[in-house]
Amino acid sequence: MTTSLDPITRQIHHPYEPPNGFSAFPPAVHKASTVMFADVAALRQRSWKSRAGYTYGLHGTPTTFTLEQRLADLEGGAHCVLAPSGLAAITNVNLALLRAGDHLLLPHNVYGPSREQAASLLSRWGITHGLYDPMEPASLQAALTPATRLVWLEAPGSVTMEFPDLAALVEIVRRHGAVAALDNTWGAGLAFRPFDLGVDISMQAVTKYPSGGADVLMGSVVTRDEDLFHRLLHVHGMLGMGVAANDAELVLRALPTIGVRYAAHDLTARALAGWFAEQRGVRQVLHPALPGSPGHAHWARHCRAAAGLFSVLFEESVAQPQVDAFVNAMRLFGIGYSWGGPMSLAVPYDLDAMRSGAARPTGHLVRFSIGLEAVEDLRADLQAAMTQALG
Ligand SMILES: *Cc1c(COP(=O)(O)O)cnc(C)c1O
Repeated sequence: MTTSLDPITRQIHHPYEPPNGFSAFPPAVHKASTVMFADVAALRQRSWKSRAGYTYGLHGTPTTFTLEQRLADLEGGAHCVLAPSGLAAITNVNLALLRAGDHLLLPHNVYGPSREQAASLLSRWGITHGLYDPMEPASLQAALTPATRLVWLEAPGSVTMEFPDLAALVEIVRRHGAVAALDNTWGAGLAFRPFDLGVDISMQAVTKYPSGGADVLMGSVVTRDEDLFHRLLHVHGMLGMGVAANDAELVLRALPTIGVRYAAHDLTARALAGWFAEQRGVRQVLHPALPGSPGHAHWARHCRAAAGLFSVLFEESVAQPQVDAFVNAMRLFGIGYSWGGPMSLAVPYDLDAMRSGAARPTGHLVRFSIGLEAVEDLRADLQAAMTQALG
């Protein structure tokens, strides 16, 4: 670089060469808003819509493309788009597949904000929605209308943890000619192979297990279908959904350990769920791998692992203040939303406000996300808090 330039200019036009002969395990982190073209012809030729090359940082960098490939691979899909949160990934799917006059279906135990989005936002654009009982395939069949274009599935359901017969639900959606989209945040591509069950789209909150650090918000949408991918990509581009290179880097760093982390969360969660099931004041432990939990047989048929989540339903005799005192008394469990991070978390939920229908569980419920702490420490903490709050 010529020394006739001002030193400030040379900070920008520096003699940088990508390292030759440098080989290391981590992928490089590439950051850019502007991506430069060799000449005007190259600029005119390339379009973000094809994903055949780089056009602008918002539409992808080598770092985000690498992460997309890895997440698609993890779930057994072919294509992936990244969104700035799990909820943004849901939004991408909804807006790519629905227009005014269309109808979408959600399971009644769907991730709460997904239902809120349908009720408060999609409805404003003339998109209607209905709820079905995921534990009764006939209920899905009955809820379909000629305008139903998209059906969301979730396994297990949020908070109440019912595991549906996914294969039966997917079959009904496909026969109707609608798109089956799975919220696969719990399975993370590890508990079961979503595309082997026939879903068209698998969405994940990358925020949870792929990140594993409780420090990133991100979502992914994976599909095997070329046409669906281009519909998703179009809306992704039109909504301006980029993810930051540093966030992508954190997830790329965490993915090689997702298998052992998931297995460790699973092992500890099963041990503590089993312990809870024997405690006084506990009516039921909702964990799909526990016999007697709703949909256990479906879990056993579909899955080879079970993540780190479960919910504890207390006896009706246990009052809300006691449940709150129990949650407050735990020292190793943070009180807060989300899951998949190293620290264990607990959240009390008000089921009456969340669920309708005669079959819903009643009573007070606490949802646990089990972290990576030593199981004996967690058990001792739970024991002490139960004794303090429930006597
Ligand atoms: C957390 C979560 C989401 C949303 O992810 P965010 O990154 O928090 O927006 C969606 N679905 C499920 C099942 C989740 O647990």
